Amino acid sequence: MKYNRILVRYGEISTKGRNRKMFTAKLRENILHTLKDFPTISVAASRDRLHIQLGDENAEEIIPRLEKIFGIQSFSPVVKVPQNMEDIMKAGLSLVQKSFSPGKTFKVAARRADKKFELDTNELNYEVGSYILRNMDGLKVDVKNPDIQLNVEVRKEAVYLSSEIYQGSTGMPVGASGKAMLMLSGGIDSPVAGYLTMKRGVEIEAVHFHSPPFTSERAKQKVIDLSKKLSAFSGKVKLHIVPFTKVQQTIHDQVPENYTMTSTRRMMLRIADQIREKNEGLALITGESLGQVASQTLESMQAINDVTNTPVLRPLIAMDKLEIIDIAQKIDTHDISILPYEDCCTIFTPPAPKTRPKKEKVEYYESFVDFEALLTEAVDGTETLTIDGSTGSNAEKTFDGLL
Ligand code: ATP
Ligand code: MG
Repeated sequence: MKYNRILVRYGEISTKGRNRKMFTAKLRENILHTLKDFPTISVAASRDRLHIQLGDENAEEIIPRLEKIFGIQSFSPVVKVPQNMEDIMKAGLSLVQKSFSPGKTFKVAARRADKKFELDTNELNYEVGSYILRNMDGLKVDVKNPDIQLNVEVRKEAVYLSSEIYQGSTGMPVGASGKAMLMLSGGIDSPVAGYLTMKRGVEIEAVHFHSPPFTSERAKQKVIDLSKKLSAFSGKVKLHIVPFTKVQQTIHDQVPENYTMTSTRRMMLRIADQIREKNEGLALITGESLGQVASQTLESMQAINDVTNTPVLRPLIAMDKLEIIDIAQKIDTHDISILPYEDCCTIFTPPAPKTRPKKEKVEYYESFVDFEALLTEAVDGTETLTIDGSTGSNAEKTFDGLL
């Protein structure tokens, strides 16, 4: 038995009123992008459902990819058969067999959109149900709370059957809520911050600060690998790699040691903000969590954040480290993040950074250097990579035989 299509149920997007059309179009686009190496599929979005027609492709290969796409509540692979009882019963039996293990209960839930069909809903439930019972041992009916529900939908053009429901990633389609720049280190936190923001429909571009020769190619590769993991949720992620050595060394030479960390963060934020502006992003995102390290006190955030009016999103701000690690494991970034290659901050971190820095002081220390010119140089020297979460050729198509 081969599935012909996948029925996708929208999550939160179905509550979005007038924007709904834009949300469903975005979801359709994201699905097509993620599945672009399956050339024979096509995707059509209707008001409250989306349908993926599988063509020659295998549902089993498509399902794991769909599970990662935001904006999907749940989905079900569907078998399409002609309008005759023999085909319906055989397909129904094979679907129930697929999900069956001893002791499981089932029910048939028929719907008849084509009222001309020879049997009505009750007759269909009975005929299909008793055929399946006759052909299987150990299966029982439970109409109230079945383990397996076989849906049979009779339409004019064909009959559609499904029995499995997969949970989607929920949230909103990436790109439906604009774009923001994720400040991506090689640590555990920032990839999680990126993931959570994408889940709210925000497209992300990553910005990473790199300080060769103090940081290695392997540290850079680590960030590329993290971006690749994130791109699995969004199709693709742009990664901007900023040459940060000169700025960092200047801070090191000019700013008193206990203020270098504050100043470094301020410069990072200024550069990220310039890159954001160039790329038409609307916000910045960091992996900060209150109280975790010296730079993550409220006083410190205030002194750092002072360099910009751009919204800085901090999705982890109130989370515990263990909760963050949990998500990092779920999205498969954790094991990359814990690799030991140093990033630019670890190397220059002073033994005792100020936990309560004063904005006036850091401004004063910075005032002896023309940082503006150094920042421009860093922005101009930035290298941009596009990391694609899917591979292969694009095959954008539509079809109109809606379920
Ligand atoms: P992470 O686990 O994300 O590295 P952290 O707990 O190590 O976070 P910090 O080192 O204080 O915390 O960094 C705070 C935030 O600053 C990071 O979450 C990230 O958003 C940003 N950041 C730090 N280092 C870099 C870097 N080299 N490139 C880009 N962003 C960075
Ligand atoms: Mg870090």
